[in-house]
Amino acid sequence: MLILVLNAGSSSLKYQLINVQTAEVKASGLCERIGIDGVMKHEIAEHRKLQIDHPMPTHKEAIEFMLDILTHDDTQVIANIDEIAAVGHRVVHGGEYFNKSILINANVVKKIEELVPLAPLHNPAHILGIKICQELLPGKPNVAVFDTAFHQTMPEENYLYAVPHEDYTEHHLRKYGFHGTSHYYVSDQAIQMLDKKESKVIVCHLGNGSSICAVKDGKSIDTTMGLTPLEGLVMGTRSGDIDAGVIPYLMDKKGMDSNQMINYLNKKSGILGVSGISSDLREVIKAAKDGDHRSKICIEMMCNRIKKYICSYIGILGGVDAICFTAGIGENADLIREKSCANLEFLGIELDKKKNKKRESGNREINKDNSPVKIYVIPTNEEYVIAQDTYNLVKG
Ligand code: ADP
Repeated sequence: MLILVLNAGSSSLKYQLINVQTAEVKASGLCERIGIDGVMKHEIAEHRKLQIDHPMPTHKEAIEFMLDILTHDDTQVIANIDEIAAVGHRVVHGGEYFNKSILINANVVKKIEELVPLAPLHNPAHILGIKICQELLPGKPNVAVFDTAFHQTMPEENYLYAVPHEDYTEHHLRKYGFHGTSHYYVSDQAIQMLDKKESKVIVCHLGNGSSICAVKDGKSIDTTMGLTPLEGLVMGTRSGDIDAGVIPYLMDKKGMDSNQMINYLNKKSGILGVSGISSDLREVIKAAKDGDHRSKICIEMMCNRIKKYICSYIGILGGVDAICFTAGIGENADLIREKSCANLEFLGIELDKKKNKKRESGNREINKDNSPVKIYVIPTNEEYVIAQDTYNLVKG
């Protein structure tokens, strides 16, 4: 069964066409600059790559163009769109309404719309994607898979902020957490590798956006991102945790309003702000090796923050069986893994530096053979989870 997985952003659209039984990705692609000029990058299973400039004034033209490419004589991914059984949509915010994936109907769309104030950049684009698919693929089921759903098992004491309780009851102020589909996939893989019924796993999803999740017996019990994806780790352009007193102080000093301030912490801070070089960690690692002081400090800050959360989650979990690294940085940056695990031997966390440096694909173990705690590198696969959830909901 072929499932189309869509991730509609404000000016972009990522897609994969997945055979859910074999896990084969038949085609994947990215439409960028929607509403500006439009560029599509498309890759077919046999690694044929296309890059096409095509006007995409709105998401509708982008989705129409994607369907054209999939069914085009030259690409021959599918003969016609009827071969697509269903569409799985990544939706960033499901609030407290959704603790699992759901078949989309008018009521589900209404609830995703209600949550726009909590995800003003993402949820409107997801709604557009859903409505256009309903129009262009009539009769095909659509499923929503939420980034927040996996974290709905967090206990109250971990999701509430220490502010007056009415802010939660009246304004829905709480920690929601994000990257849930990735944390679910990686922790599930780790639990299979551990082959343990009762398990304590910590997942470090380190990409442009980064978060850590404490997973007990397969359930999220705490995570570093909060009401918004700004909280927690030092990220590509986000500051992560910061004293709230910084906000009025900097607004006053720099003459910024609240929108400018939040933009500053989301888009100009983190790795980019500290290094002053780039939000791309590869460039910062290179600069640090060439002796750049700010880049060196930036790497230390990132790894100390990761280490702080690993240790605090060991406390919350009451121990740990496995620490997992995933996403662009987690899967590729051996330096960050090494520094984040350094000096944690007293907790049973013993990294094997040689295994850590090896460049291998797939799930792998990078701890010393007799390390009490396993350390895994597990490539994330959010699209496969979306395809699977979609299949499970539509197969009946
Ligand atoms: P996104 O959150 O946008 O999905 P990714 O998971 O693709 O991000 O991660 C992007 C980050 O991964 C960037 O900071 C990039 O520099 C980093 N990265 C990718 N490959 C490497 C590598 N070999 N070494 C260090 N960092 C890497």
